[in-house]
Amino acid sequence: PAVVRGVDLVREYDRGAGGILRGGSTPSVRALDGVSIAVHSGEFVGIAGPSGSGKSTLLHLLAGLDVPTAGAVELAGEDIESYGERGRARLRLEHVGIVFQRFHLLPALSARANVALPLVELGRSKAERRERASALLEEVGLGDRMTHKPGQLSGGEQQRVAIARALVTEPELVVADEPTGELDSETSARVLSTLDDIADERAVVLASHDPQALETCDRLVRLRDGTRRRERAETELR
Ligand code: ADP
Ligand code: ADP
Repeated sequence: PAVVRGVDLVREYDRGAGGILRGGSTPSVRALDGVSIAVHSGEFVGIAGPSGSGKSTLLHLLAGLDVPTAGAVELAGEDIESYGERGRARLRLEHVGIVFQRFHLLPALSARANVALPLVELGRSKAERRERASALLEEVGLGDRMTHKPGQLSGGEQQRVAIARALVTEPELVVADEPTGELDSETSARVLSTLDDIADERAVVLASHDPQALETCDRLVRLRDGTRRRERAETELR
């Protein structure tokens, strides 16, 4: 579902304090340098690497949230560069589910309404939204939490609501940025097992430095300073 070919991503800091401190020149950081990766349905891929190595940046490119400075990103067979901002938003809505470390649920809405939200954007009927959201909440083990608001749910439950929301459009690709970063290990295990199940029929890409999360993945892409490190055999990773 997603291919990244030889991408660079160079970010320019905005001309805030940094610009002034450096005498007005615009400092830039090469967040990614010639990275390639292809992810396929049925794969659970982990992106590993220390803080600042480019994990989030790569995930954002895979998800079409960002465009590369050089190189190409293909999402659902389409070169994202041939789309404008709005076209990419649509492509993302239809083909990618995104899970964040801090859940990003709307506090005023019930779990079911949060899950249904992407379908509102797609203009689906109320009946379909309700049915799909309910089915997904059942699937992630939250059938008894449909009308609870995020504030009434534990961290693990909120993350499973976020996962259900990521799945509601039936995306080929699900990306998760440090999905267990805020969770204890028992809760993490439950969230990881949910993601692992999802990877049976979709591509799941997880960025993390949590060893428990990385161990759950089928394959790892290791980053350091924005470049890919040589992959090691799976047994060496533990
Ligand atoms: P990771 O997810 O592995 O911690 P990131 O992809 O967030 O790494 O960051 C890669 C590089 O890009 C780092 O050097 C980081 O400082 C830089 N970076 C990340 N976000 C921004 C931003 N919004 N503006 C400028 N630089 C950024
Ligand atoms: P953190 O927990 O460190 O804030 P998150 O995983 O919650 O990180 O979010 C990662 C980044 O993605 C943040 O910079 C956040 O602003 C951005 N982000 C969150 N939600 C969205 C979204 N729906 N679309 C695009 N970017 C988002």
